[in-house]
Amino acid sequence: MLCARECPDWCIYIDSHKETLPAEGGGRARTRNVLDRFAIDFALCMYCGICIEACPFDALFWSPEFEYAEYDINELTHERDRLREWMWTVPPPQAHDAAAEPPKEIAAAEKAMARSARGAGGRGAAERGAGGRDGPGRRP
Ligand code: SF4
Repeated sequence: MLCARECPDWCIYIDSHKETLPAEGGGRARTRNVLDRFAIDFALCMYCGICIEACPFDALFWSPEFEYAEYDINELTHERDRLREWMWTVPPPQAHDAAAEPPKEIAAAEKAMARSARGAGGRGAAERGAGGRDGPGRRP
């Protein structure tokens, strides 16, 4: 929804509703947002790219497609089905520079994996008890 809020022309239309999911395994019921409509009015869009920059999920992309002139201005509002067809025209992202830092998401995932591996190792040492070097039963 940040895209619609940040768009200076207010030409992104989003409709949604909340849906309640039944509780599983004794938990409480959950609600989730369900998208009903996502459309962009290209009669208003000025191609500033703010929506693409604002999206925290990288869900919007530039397309080199530009031949979509219409005789009827109403046809310039592209609903999500038509926008989805454009995905085939989106070029793949550029490869990362070999000398660049890895993406933050990969570094965070590696750190979390190392932490969980350390946690599993720590539990193993504690389970070994007095025989472990760092366990609670360590002798002076
Ligand atoms: S590119 Fe178009 S849809 Fe996106 S923020 Fe700019 S005016 Fe709005």
